[in-house]
Amino acid sequence: MTHTEVILGDITKLKVDAIVNAANSGLAGGGGVDGAIHRAAGKELYDECMRFPDSPMGRCPAGECVITGAGRLHCKNVIHTVGPIYSGKPSDALLLSNCYRNCLITATKSGLKSIAFSCISTGVYGYPKLEAARIAVDTVQEVIPRVPIINSVFFVCFDDENYTIYKKLLPPPV
Ligand code: ADP
Repeated sequence: MTHTEVILGDITKLKVDAIVNAANSGLAGGGGVDGAIHRAAGKELYDECMRFPDSPMGRCPAGECVITGAGRLHCKNVIHTVGPIYSGKPSDALLLSNCYRNCLITATKSGLKSIAFSCISTGVYGYPKLEAARIAVDTVQEVIPRVPIINSVFFVCFDDENYTIYKKLLPPPV
């Protein structure tokens, strides 16, 4: 059975196979978790991101993801996914769900066994935290039986509000 855990803390410190970055479509770093990951990983990560071809949709459109090395981080890979900017339209949920699904599939294709997600879109992109957490948990639970190579999934919360929400959605086993 897949180990699923909620963590309160800084995703850049984790020693897992892959951490998931809530990137923007330019993959150029920025604020929030994206900035923290790029600062901790160093220039190598930035240079690798810049090698993805740019297009009118950016280097990575919303809902999709790309995988890179991890520079100075403790993990093996960073999976950069671009969440939707919250608009209140039904397409938001689909795009956010696609982020989690595509990251799990990409991790599996690279033979990665453990993956840590940041709370995609719940910072600057403004997604309501409870709605976003439900989509994250539901999507992971739906996809995980199809990606049996992944044995551990971590939901990494940086703020108490997300942590409380995820703890309620994923209570520890009794
Ligand atoms: P987005 O633009 O997708 O909303 P943000 O980086 O603004 O991305 O926020 C996404 C989530 O990442 C927020 O819940 C924020 O609290 C969280 N976050 C910020 N820094 C870190 C970090 N170092 N580790 C884990 N999560 C973080």
